Amino acid sequence: MRIECIAVGTELLTTRRLDTNSVWLGERLAALGLGFHRKTAVGDDRQDLEALFREALTRSELIVITGGLGPTFDDFTKECFAQILGAELREDARSREDMLAFYAARKRVPAASNFKQALIPVGAEALPNPVGTAPGVWWEGPSGHPGVRIVMLPGVPREMKRMWETQVEPRLRALAGRPVHTLRLVVAGVPESTLDERIRPVRERHAHLEWTILASLTQVELLVRGPDAAALDVARADLEAVLGEDLACAGEGDLEDAVLDDLRARGETLAAAESVTGGLLAARITAIPGASEVFAGGATVYTSPAKAALAGLEPASLAAQGTVSEATTRALAEGIRVKLGATWGLGLTGNAGPTAESGEPVGSVFIALAGPEGTVAQHFNVPGDRADVRLRSVGWALDLLRRALRNG
Ligand code: AMP
Ligand code: MG
Repeated sequence: MRIECIAVGTELLTTRRLDTNSVWLGERLAALGLGFHRKTAVGDDRQDLEALFREALTRSELIVITGGLGPTFDDFTKECFAQILGAELREDARSREDMLAFYAARKRVPAASNFKQALIPVGAEALPNPVGTAPGVWWEGPSGHPGVRIVMLPGVPREMKRMWETQVEPRLRALAGRPVHTLRLVVAGVPESTLDERIRPVRERHAHLEWTILASLTQVELLVRGPDAAALDVARADLEAVLGEDLACAGEGDLEDAVLDDLRARGETLAAAESVTGGLLAARITAIPGASEVFAGGATVYTSPAKAALAGLEPASLAAQGTVSEATTRALAEGIRVKLGATWGLGLTGNAGPTAESGEPVGSVFIALAGPEGTVAQHFNVPGDRADVRLRSVGWALDLLRRALRNG
C-alpha cells in the first residue's frame, strides 16, 4: 500500500515547530509492516494545499494528513479536500454533540467558529476526538478515486496519537490482511558500498522481497521485508553465509548491544581509555540498561597528565612515542585494563581535526585492544569531519572487540 503523509501548518516550515507527527506515525506504521513512500510539510495556503492534495490522490492509496482541522481562519484541510473532490461539507450531528459536551464539561461556551469543526465532507466519516474538539475524517473511495483512502487528524500530537491508535490502526489492520515481516541485520566493519556488492547475488535471488540498506557512522543496517516469513528465513540463511563474521546481530539491537551481549555470555568485562573519542564509547555502552554488568568503566584521557594518572602511562615514554601513536594506544588499553581489573581494555587516540597536529593528519586514529592473551592495535584513516571521525572511531573500536570475542 502506497502511503503518504502530509503535515499541514505554516509553523512547521519555520524553526518554531518541528513536524514530529510524521515521525511518530512512521514508527506506528512500521510496526504494522507499512511505511510512508513520501512525507511533505506544507503551509496553511489554500492553493498549495489543493495542488498537493490533487497530486497525492494520483500517487497514493492512503493519504494521512495532520493539522488544519482547528476552528481558526488558517485551518482548511477539510474544505480543500471537499473542494477538489466536489463534495459538500455538512454538519455531523454526533460531532456537534461531542463538541458541545466537551465545552459543557469544562463549563465553557464554544465560540461560533468551533461549529465549523463539526462539518464533515459528504461521503466521509467523522472520527470522534475524545481529547479535543476537532473530529478527524476517514474518507474511503471518494468520488473519482475508488482505491484511495484519506485520513485527516488534528495537528495536536496528543489528540492525533490517541485517534490514530484507537480509530485508524484498527481500520488499517483490517486492510493490511497479511502481515508484513521484517528481517533486520546489523553489519559492522564493512562499508555500505562493499556490503551492497557482496549481498547483490542474494538480493537478486530474492528479488520479490523489499530491500533497504541504511548506513550510519558505526554500522550498516540491512532491512528486508516481505509477506512470507519462510521466504525471509531463506534470505536470512543466504545472507548469513555471505556475511560471515561481519554480521554483528539480528533483530532490534545495534553494534553496542551485540558487544554487550557477547561479553555477558562470556562473563567478561570491558574498560576503556578514550582520548580522541572523549568518552563517546562509554556513553554508547552505558546508554544500554544493565551495562554495569559488563562495563567496568572508563577514563577520558584527553591530556598527557590524564593519560599518566588514569591509565598509568609513563610520562617519559609518552613523550618519546607521541600522543597519537600505536605504542601509546597499546599502553592506554593495557593500563586501563589493569587499573579497572577488566577482562578487556580498549584504548583510542587520534586526531579528529579540524587541523593536522604535530604531523598527524586529520582522521588518523589508533585503536588498541588488550585482552587475556595480549594486545592488538590497528591504525585507521577515518574519513569525515570531527564529529564523524569520533563516532566512526567508536564503531571501529566496538567492532575490534566484537571480532575478538567471536573468534574465541
Ligand atoms: P492544527 O490542527 O493545525 O490546529 O494544529 C494544532 C497544533 O498542533 C499546532 O499549533 C501545532 O503546534 C501542532 N502541530 C500541528 N502539526 C504538527 C506536526 N506535524 N507535528 C507536531 N505538532 C504539530
Ligand atoms: Mg494549523
